[in-house]
Amino acid sequence: MRYAILGDIHSNLAAFEAVLRDIDLKGGIDRIWCLGDVVGYGPDPHECIELLRQYEHICVAGNHDWAAIGKMDTSDFNPVATRACRWTSQQLTKKDIDYLQNLPLSLCQDDFTLVHGSPREPIWEYLLSIEVAQDNFAYFKTAFCLVGHSHVPLIFEQRGNSTVYKEFPNRTNLELGGNRLIINPGGVGQPRDGDPRASYAIYDVDTRTIYHYRVEYDIPATQRKMEERGLPLPLILRLSEGW
Ligand code: ZN
Repeated sequence: MRYAILGDIHSNLAAFEAVLRDIDLKGGIDRIWCLGDVVGYGPDPHECIELLRQYEHICVAGNHDWAAIGKMDTSDFNPVATRACRWTSQQLTKKDIDYLQNLPLSLCQDDFTLVHGSPREPIWEYLLSIEVAQDNFAYFKTAFCLVGHSHVPLIFEQRGNSTVYKEFPNRTNLELGGNRLIINPGGVGQPRDGDPRASYAIYDVDTRTIYHYRVEYDIPATQRKMEERGLPLPLILRLSEGW
């Protein structure tokens, strides 16, 4: 079995399609594991939900998925995110809303727990520091945890009583061993580690290896589309910067 691990698609259809094409080139997958924030920020919320639903997949809820359907208020969002969220809400069909409404906060598959933010706070918490990661190892029971939310590819490894941070660069093969891990595959639709290419991973069960990949997509075309839709300029500009 092979699973695609996709986080933070964020209504970026061109990035999502580029990732799916890349997956095909790499021999395909059996199922998508999606880490939430399917919508928010980008120009194609409805299309991204629809495309995801064409694949066999599981998906957890992200903060933007909840905000887009009013399941959570946007008082903690910055003004730009709030504007994009309001626009996103207006693009969703009844079917899209039902789909987002029913996304669970966390899921367990094989040796993995899937959440958007962190196992302790699945919607909100950012897992970016060793201290936060260390605490969070107590909040899931499986060997491994997959997270999104920060849009930064990284790995935290539990070694005895300490936690070690590791980068997760493009084309890294992460072989799963005995140590527990928290893994972020990076963001498909709005990467924030300085590399604007879409970021995702494939987990191969037979080799017990997670492969991390970056894929180019048509950023200028996506930016033009966002401009046409009247989405906020900072959200348009950040796609080419990768932050
Ligand atoms: Zn996100």
